[in-house]
This record gives sequence, structure tokens and C-alpha cells, in this order.
Amino acid sequence: MALPQDQTPLLSLPIEELPGQGYRRAQLAAWLYAKGARQWEEMTDLPKALRAEWAKQYRISEFAEVTPFPSQDGSVKYLFTLLDGQKTEAVYMPYLNRKTICISSMVGCPAGCTFCATGRMGFGRNLTAAEILDQILFTAHHQGHTPREIRNVVLMGMGEPLLNVDNVFAALERMLHPEGLAMSPRRVTLSTVGIPRGIYKMAEWGLEVRLALSLHAPDDETRQQIIPTAHRYSIAEIMEAVRHYYAQTGRRITLEYTLLKGINDHDWQARALAQHFKGISVHMNLIPWNPWEGAPHQGTPRAQILKFAAILEQQGIPTSVRWSRGRDVGAACGQLALKQPA
Ligand code: SAH
Ligand code: SF4
Repeated sequence: MALPQDQTPLLSLPIEELPGQGYRRAQLAAWLYAKGARQWEEMTDLPKALRAEWAKQYRISEFAEVTPFPSQDGSVKYLFTLLDGQKTEAVYMPYLNRKTICISSMVGCPAGCTFCATGRMGFGRNLTAAEILDQILFTAHHQGHTPREIRNVVLMGMGEPLLNVDNVFAALERMLHPEGLAMSPRRVTLSTVGIPRGIYKMAEWGLEVRLALSLHAPDDETRQQIIPTAHRYSIAEIMEAVRHYYAQTGRRITLEYTLLKGINDHDWQARALAQHFKGISVHMNLIPWNPWEGAPHQGTPRAQILKFAAILEQQGIPTSVRWSRGRDVGAACGQLALKQPA
């Protein structure tokens, strides 16, 4: 039998192109995406000989090894070793009956944000569509759920999804496909540091997933200080893409803003921020910064977080503060950097 590395990943195939004719193909799709089978032996209504033949050619799983790290608050971080030995991570969050998975789109990230542990580790490689999807399938299975019981998926783990557009869009298509995970697009969120050409592609693409924009500053100078690669795209260019996206889709845009003490948390910045979103429907998520070892930042004190939120609200921007979870196992936003919890 071929080594797993030499086999075709089933999850990399568009659902229409899975092996098998008509009914058989549909059965295989159901085993993978509806029932969450991870072994050929489970697929009992497919002829044994056919399964044996497919098992030679195709692989179901993308991971050589998976280590779960449960947090005291119920979230679980998963460390995935890929077949080439590279590693990536996802976080399962079972809160309030709304099972959510935060998945990665890359190993590491090339954007280099100074406040983000993933940015600090640099870029490894893009994940394939199969590797992106299998984070959901594996996690659901490990948690004793069928894949479709996962209610929400957020692309907010490692990496910048709009710098891996082809693989990310292919994975999203399978998440939304009625024979795939059959997710409602409103329950899938793609978070980007703001890559204009990727935002234009999302607008053209027409699949109605939610767009979240990580702006982190109202002015280019501050932004470039904390996102070293931000000089490639000005806020004006990003906002032009966002306005185009809004005009095309009419969908409300989520904003993410990680608050860093003394850098992007001044009152004037809250007021300046609001100016960018006149005429666009947005919802602001303020993220208190999660500390990690060796980081060159401090988090904004609680009182200033609340003041910043109040100013945005006064300026007409609906705002929430995302007090985060999973901190004890390094499973909170921006802490994903392959470190095993102590
Ligand atoms: N690359 C994409 C998606 C992954 S990062 C993006 O940047 O949007 C997802 C979110 O986590 C971003 O909004 C980022 O600002 C936030 N984040 C990163 N590190 C963080 C940290 N240490 N504390 C709080 N939020 C952080
Ligand atoms: Fe990459 Fe997002 Fe981290 Fe920035 S915040 S380094 S874009 S993962």
C-alpha cells in the first residue's frame, strides 16, 4: 500500500469529484462529512473490495499525530502534527451550546504582528484544503460529535487566510456544501489582517461567509508599528476594498481590535476609528491582549478598555469586549505558537 504521503487526500477533492459513481460517491461523501468516519472499516455499507481499492489510493486523515490540551474552562487546544512533520493548531470551544472551532490556515504566519505569538514564529507553509477541513473533522470526532454538530467555525487560528486564498476557499466550499459539512455561511467567519486583493476576491466569490477585519489602529503609522507588513497596504486601500465588499454583499462586517497599552488604546484613536466606518454596517470586537512569554507589549487596563468601548458606542459603532478563554493552555487568540502548556 502507498504511504499516506503518496496517497490522494480525499478532503482535497471537490465533493463532486470524490471517487465512485453516483450513489457510491454520495455514500462516501456522507461517511466523510455527515457521519465523520475516520477509518475505511467504518463504512460498512460500501462493498469491502471497493473500500480496499480506495484505501490504497486515497487517505482520509491528514495528521500523523494529534495532542489535545484541555483548558479548565472547557475549551481544548489541539496540536496537529501534519504528515510532513510540520505542526499547526486548532481550538475547540463548547460554550453555551454553540460548539465552535477556531481553525488555522497556515503553519505560522508571514504577517509578523508584534503582539501575536504566531506572527513571532514566522511563516512555515500554507495548509492544504484537506488540512484545513480535517481540523474540524478530527476535533468533532474526538469530542464525540458528528461533524455537522459543530455550529460555528472561525478562521482565527494560525495564519492569514487571505494569503492562502485558493486552499481556504476550497475548504470553505466543502464546509458550506450540502453534501459537505452543510454549514450555514453565517456561522463561518474568516478573519483577515486586511489583504485588499483577498477582500475583493471574497466579494466576487459570492459565498456568504462572514468577514472579520483586524484593523488594530485608525492610522497607518500606529498600524505599521504593530503590523510590520502593513506598509504594503494603507488603511485607505483596505477601506476601499471593505467598502466594495459591503456594496457588493450588503453584509455586516466584524471588526477586531486587539488593545495594546499605550499604543492603540488612546481616546483619540477610538474617535478616529469610528470615522472610517461611516455608512458601513459593522460590529466591533475589542480583544484584550493575551500575554505570551517574551512579548514586547502590555495589555490595556480594564478601565481604559471600557472607556474605549464607550467612545466607540457614542460614535455609533456597536461594540463588544471579547474577554477571552483558554488562556491557561495557550488557546486564546494569538497564543497559538505550538507551545505545549506548562
Ligand atoms: N491572521 C488573521 C486571523 C488569525 S489572528 C487576522 O489577523 O485576523 C485572529 C485574531 O487574533 C486577530 O484579530 C488578532 O489580532 C488576534 N490576536 C493575535 N494575537 C493576539 C493576542 N496575543 N491577544 C489578543 N488577540 C490576538
Ligand atoms: Fe498573522 Fe493574524 Fe497573527 Fe497577524 S494577528 S501575525 S495576521 S495570525
